[in-house]
Amino acid sequence: MKTVLITGASRGIGCETARCFHDLGYNVVINYNKNKSAALQLQSSLTNSIAIRADVSDENQVRAMVEEAVDRFGFIDVLVNNAGIAQQKMFTDITTDDWDKMMSVNLKSVYNTCKYVVPKMVHEKRGKIINVSSMWGITGASCEVHYSAAKAAVIGFTKALAKELGPSGIQVNAVAPGTIMTDMCSGYDEETLSALREETPLCRLGTPYDVAKTICFLASDDASFITGQVISTDGGMVI
Ligand code: NAP
Repeated sequence: MKTVLITGASRGIGCETARCFHDLGYNVVINYNKNKSAALQLQSSLTNSIAIRADVSDENQVRAMVEEAVDRFGFIDVLVNNAGIAQQKMFTDITTDDWDKMMSVNLKSVYNTCKYVVPKMVHEKRGKIINVSSMWGITGASCEVHYSAAKAAVIGFTKALAKELGPSGIQVNAVAPGTIMTDMCSGYDEETLSALREETPLCRLGTPYDVAKTICFLASDDASFITGQVISTDGGMVI
């Protein structure tokens, strides 16, 4: 039985991704930070799953999480780096603390998990890493400079690591979601959401399920010759 570790799986895209992997027969490691009750509820609804609290921006907490996951399930076949935060602010209002937090949670987290998961994958010469970037990491978003910069860096990280780990049989890819209806979009007013809907060629906003299915595809054998790619699940926003 294969095992997936999904960061930020208590809500939104991560939660839906956990359900999809479970339906495919995976053991699921549900990482969460603040929403313990949601994570435990998800754990109770998914057989062969474990909820582990870790702030992904904290290396020691990530190390402990990976150790616990490996103790329980033996090997992490698929790592999904999904945990993230967003913030809408004019560039001139972004504080150094805002900047540091954005980079820690959205980018350093990816380094942290890979640091502890990759050596075992290299040893076994197998594994898949899927990083959740954003369309804003490709195009840049006004009033989200720090978010866009972090998500663009995740793409660079993905491409570089894919080249380095390909010879070890490990695939590294990214997904770049468009506007997906989760708590993360609660900062957008109805006017903004409506404008985003209108700008989207497929004329709708995305669902967590749309992204979860893309992630599961990248983890599947059907994607065995794909690495270093950024798959846009965005209804055609970025073409
Ligand atoms: P969400 O509904 O706000 O959920 C965020 C998840 O990340 C939660 O499970 C949260 O856990 C977790 N998280 C946040 N900080 C964390 C930390 N320090 N350590 C561990 N977990 C942490 O967001 P979402 O929309 O599902 O977003 C998931 C990913 O998709 C993010 O990387 C986001 O940037 C990306 N994305 C989203 C959209 C969109 O429109 N929604 C578009 C493009 C990309 P707790 O609640 O337990 O703290």
